[in-house]
Amino acid sequence: MLDTNIISNPPVRTRIAPSPTGDPHVGTAYIALFNRCFAHQHGGQFILRIEDTDKKRSTERSEKDILDSLRWLGLQWDEGPGCEGEFGPYRQSERSHIYKSHINQLLAKDCAFPCFCTAGRLNSLRKEQMEQKQQTGYDGKCLSFTKEEAESKISAGESYVIRIKIPAEGECEFEDKLRGPVNISWSQVDMQVLVKSDGLPTYHFANVVDDHLMKISHVIRGEEWINSTPKHLLLYSYFDWEVPEFYHMPLLRNPDKSKLSKRKNPTSIGYYQAMGYLPQALVNYLGMMGWSMPSGEEKFSQQEMIENFNIARVSLGGPIFDIEKLDWLNGKYIREDLDDDAFRKLFSEWAFNDEKVRQIVPLIKQRVERFSDVAKIGSFFVSGELDLNVVDFANKNLDTDAELKILQYSLWELEALKQWDREAIESCLLKLCALMELKIRDFLVPLFVSISGNVVSTSVIESIFILKLDITRARIRKGIEVLGGISKKRAKLMEKEYRAFS
Ligand code: GLU
Repeated sequence: MLDTNIISNPPVRTRIAPSPTGDPHVGTAYIALFNRCFAHQHGGQFILRIEDTDKKRSTERSEKDILDSLRWLGLQWDEGPGCEGEFGPYRQSERSHIYKSHINQLLAKDCAFPCFCTAGRLNSLRKEQMEQKQQTGYDGKCLSFTKEEAESKISAGESYVIRIKIPAEGECEFEDKLRGPVNISWSQVDMQVLVKSDGLPTYHFANVVDDHLMKISHVIRGEEWINSTPKHLLLYSYFDWEVPEFYHMPLLRNPDKSKLSKRKNPTSIGYYQAMGYLPQALVNYLGMMGWSMPSGEEKFSQQEMIENFNIARVSLGGPIFDIEKLDWLNGKYIREDLDDDAFRKLFSEWAFNDEKVRQIVPLIKQRVERFSDVAKIGSFFVSGELDLNVVDFANKNLDTDAELKILQYSLWELEALKQWDREAIESCLLKLCALMELKIRDFLVPLFVSISGNVVSTSVIESIFILKLDITRARIRKGIEVLGGISKKRAKLMEKEYRAFS
């Protein structure tokens, strides 16, 4: 018998659209998991699109890390980079011509307008609006130009952006499939820039054009995008396109209910991999964020999640990403699912994979007389959190405040690196040491102790390189904590000072 449901309903196509501007975030994996489950439950496709229109902040390293992390977690996409389908390219930087032709359509329909306002004018407008406690946003100055006036400014070479026109009154009403009707007054919606002065589209424009052209049927994304949805819907209506269904998922939260942030919890997927979590346990844990199996069973595979998935059962109370609970679940997986042989294989690959051992050997070889000395100086390469002793930080030339600064500033330097290589690590730390007017020996002590947990160890720069940023960050944080921590107020002052000389 023919399944009329399949014939009448368009295929289900969902997507995640990460911007490659930082470490792969557990929040991205969480949204990817729900999109993948929803699509596969309906026999549809899950698409990965790279939103790299922010040229300054997007990096190849970040894109590669995102793709590797999703693959590691078993969140493979059906279409996307490396898995081309008929709706590619799947990287927005390769789709400029598409956005160009679409913005021309909007200009021709008078749904968008060029804006010539300078950054200076926009800043003072914003300041004024804030002083008068008004809502901030563009005031529509350039709407007054006639088409001819605007064209002559453009041909005279004036710099401009293109903004969307917003209805003067009324409100946008839409249905969020998880929350019900949402109403947002048009007066709250800014005349969003669609195309920047460099000719590249902004997120809002490229995202809608691509969702339409890639035939995305269900947009399942984080709740931080709810307030942007009216602009997106307006674009759909200007183009006269069919609107997908919107589901805004609750954001992951720290145990104190604040939005999950790397200041309070490791958020990078790479951290969990480097700490030796099992990918299936992490995915299972993410599946428990706002959702549960109808049976109440807490341990389930992604396949079981797909088979039992019902997006209507997503609960909106902010799910807490609690590492203790994840540890419990991961331990359960290790005990219940890994026989000794599987454990041996996975553990040796994690701890002693060729790449890592090859990097560690030359560092350790010069410092040992017997193999039995190796564990003492090298165990920190295969450990997670270290037990640090405050006495190990003692240095007659540095007080605690100076040591805290060294740790915090070094972390900021390392986090800003675009390329993770020895030379880059060395040069940023040496530059910092010189700027802080410290002797290199003194400068390296707090780093050395935090990274290795020891007062004698292998080269700190080499060690940081091998341990990579996620573990380095966690260890520097622990060092800061052991030295008494940095209050919010102090952190603000430090940041100011750091920005002033870095
Ligand atoms: N590029 C956006 C992000 O980085 C995508 C948001 C969306 O799913 O619409 O989160």
